[in-house]
Amino acid sequence: MSEIKKISGIIIRKIPFSDSSLILSLYSREFGKISLIQKGALRQSKTKTGSKIDTLNHVEVIIYYKDSRDMQLIKEVDLVDYYPSIKGNLEKLKYSSAIAELLNFFILENYENEELFLGTIKILTRFEDSKSNDEAELFIRYFLFFIRHTGFEINFKKCGVCNTDLDIDFELINFNFEKGFICEGCSQNSFHSFQFSKELFKIITCLNFKKEIHSSTELNNIIKFLEQYLRYHVPEFSGLKSLKMF
Ligand SMILES: [Zn+2]
Repeated sequence: MSEIKKISGIIIRKIPFSDSSLILSLYSREFGKISLIQKGALRQSKTKTGSKIDTLNHVEVIIYYKDSRDMQLIKEVDLVDYYPSIKGNLEKLKYSSAIAELLNFFILENYENEELFLGTIKILTRFEDSKSNDEAELFIRYFLFFIRHTGFEINFKKCGVCNTDLDIDFELINFNFEKGFICEGCSQNSFHSFQFSKELFKIITCLNFKKEIHSSTELNNIIKFLEQYLRYHVPEFSGLKSLKMF
């Protein structure tokens, strides 16, 4: 017997299946990532379920839930938000798609995390409402928040070798993917994976601690660094395709 359940979440991936069905990955509040199937979705008229099922839509779904099944059957879909401003703006779409990619790759089924879920809804709402071209900055803030919630937290306060406090005024700070940030003193004797100039270290620290920054041309370097950092820890992760596609 299956149980009827109502869940809500963001569609992070959509794949056509057989002639008329759709398989989707939903990043849900209740179950973390969950795979759902809508039978006959592509046969239904545009005004019905088919058009509500789109990547990055926020939906409420009624499912026939069965613990033993890998994929849960959809009964009904209701649209909460389809983020029209994100979908009509390439920069917003690029970074929102990268968020969907992160969630699809790193979040496991049955990984329930209310704070990460609410943070994800919040960032999409901010992209939707943003008028100031600050997408890269918003994305990095989310990326750092995501890294904290997936067990790869970076220590911005202490040197990973000698444990002294990191000083925002150091001329050069190295980063080792294994040990984290390394102070000036320890830098001479440690292998580094990435070098931070004074400015770059200051920017990433401010972004991590939710402080204001002045717009910067260094933001892409920070994104590259965070991608490399995750790739080091999860070799199967090959970087964010959305960022290269747009
Ligand atoms: Zn040190």
